[in-house]
Amino acid sequence: MAAAGAQEQAGAKSPDLVVMKFGGTSVAGAEEIKRAAGRIVAAREQGTSVVAVLSARGSTTDELVEMAREVAERPDPREMDMLLSTGERISCALCAMAIVELGHKAISLTGSQAGIVTDSSHTKARIIDVRADRIRDALGQDSIVLVAGFQGVSTDSRDVTTLGRGGSDTTAVALAAALGGEVCEIYTDVRGVYSADPRIVPEARKLPVVSYEEMLEMAASGAKVLQLRSVEYARNHGVQIHCRSSSEDGPGTLVVSEQETLERPLVTAVTHSTDEARVTLTGVRDEPGVAGRILRALADANVNVDMIIQNEPVSTDGGADLSFTIESNDLPAALDALKKIQVSDGVETDEHTGKVSIVGAGMRSHPGVAAKVFETLGGQGINIEMISTSPIKISCVIAADRVSDAVKALHQAFELGEGAIRKEEPAGDEHRPTVAG
Ligand code: ASP
Ligand code: MG
Repeated sequence: MAAAGAQEQAGAKSPDLVVMKFGGTSVAGAEEIKRAAGRIVAAREQGTSVVAVLSARGSTTDELVEMAREVAERPDPREMDMLLSTGERISCALCAMAIVELGHKAISLTGSQAGIVTDSSHTKARIIDVRADRIRDALGQDSIVLVAGFQGVSTDSRDVTTLGRGGSDTTAVALAAALGGEVCEIYTDVRGVYSADPRIVPEARKLPVVSYEEMLEMAASGAKVLQLRSVEYARNHGVQIHCRSSSEDGPGTLVVSEQETLERPLVTAVTHSTDEARVTLTGVRDEPGVAGRILRALADANVNVDMIIQNEPVSTDGGADLSFTIESNDLPAALDALKKIQVSDGVETDEHTGKVSIVGAGMRSHPGVAAKVFETLGGQGINIEMISTSPIKISCVIAADRVSDAVKALHQAFELGEGAIRKEEPAGDEHRPTVAG
C-alpha cells in the first residue's frame, strides 16, 4: 500500500484498508483458524490491505483466569496481564502460519509491537495512543498483519496490559481509527446484533443498523456482542462497525451514527445480564460529601458502578440507604474499598442479581414506554427491585432467575420479532408497530 502515509493523516478514511476482527469461537480450532485465514486472504486478494485482530481461541482466556485462581486467591494484576495476553498471541501466530501456507505474506504482532499504548490500569487498561508505524511498514511490504487483540503496553510502567474482557473489539476499532480504515469488520459466531439474545428468544430479529448511542446502551446493559469501549471508541472516531458472521456470508449489523440510521423504532432491543451484584449501604450519614466519598473510593478501586439509587431518609435521625450495582467480579474490590471509608451502619450484598433493559432511540419522544415495561413485568409476576433510565433506555434490576421470562415477555410486548415493520411514529401515539404476516 504505497500511499498509506498520506491517507492516514487526520482521520482520512482509506478504502484500501480493512480491519477484520475474529472472535474466540471463530479461531477456536485448527479448522476455524484456517477458515479465518481463508477469509483474510480473500479480502487481500480483492486488493485491499488487511489488518486482522484475533481473540484468544475458544475458552482460552477463561482457562487462563482459572489457572491464576488455582495458584492465588487474588492474582497480582500485572502478572495476570502477562498471563492473559498470551492467548491472543497464540491465535495470531497460528493464523499467520496458515496464511503463509496459502501463499501470502503475513506477520503476527503483539499489542505492544503493534503500538497499542495504554494507561497502566492492569486488566482494564484504556488505549491512549496507537503508534502504528510498524503495522504500516509491514503493510507497505505487502504483508497481511495479525495483531493480538485485548492487549497493549503502558509507556509509564513499560508493562503489558489488557483491555478488559472482550477487549479485542476495542483493539480492532482503535486500529481502524488509527490506520484510517472506513469500516471495522467484527467477525463472530452470530450473524449480527439481535433484538434480544436468540438463545432466549428464538424469533429475535437481526438488526440491520443500530446507532452508536443505542449500541452503547445495549453493550452497557448486557449485550455481549461488542465490548462497550469499542463502541465508544468507534463513535468518538467515526469508525463504522460491521458485526457479522465468520462462517456465513451476507450482511450483519452496521453500527453507525444516528443520522445514518433510517429506521428509528421506538424500541430496538431487549438486553439482559445476570452477572451483576448489588450492594446496599444502610444508615448512610445524611450530610454533604458522603456519596462523593463512596463513589470516589469505588472509582479509585477501578470499580465501574452501574445503577445508583439513594433516597433521603424519612426520619430526621435516620441514615439514608444507598444501593448500587456493579459487575459480580468487582464485588471483592468494592467491599474492600468500602471497608476503608466507614460511612454506613451496614453493608448488604446480593452477589447475583439480574437486569433487563429495553433500548431504543425512538423512546426519547414517546411517553408510555416505561408504563408498558412495568406492566409487562408485573403481568409476569416479576418484582422490580431497582429502576434506572436514560433518554433511550429503561433498566430494571430483577431476580436473576426471572431474567429470561422478562426478556421473552418484553420482546413480545414491544413486538420486536421477525416480521415487525418498524417506523418512526408521531410523538404521543401509543406504540403499535404493524406486524406483517
Ligand atoms: N480473549 C479476551 C476475552 O475472552 C478478549 C477478547 O476475546 O476480546 O475476553
Ligand atoms: Mg467478544
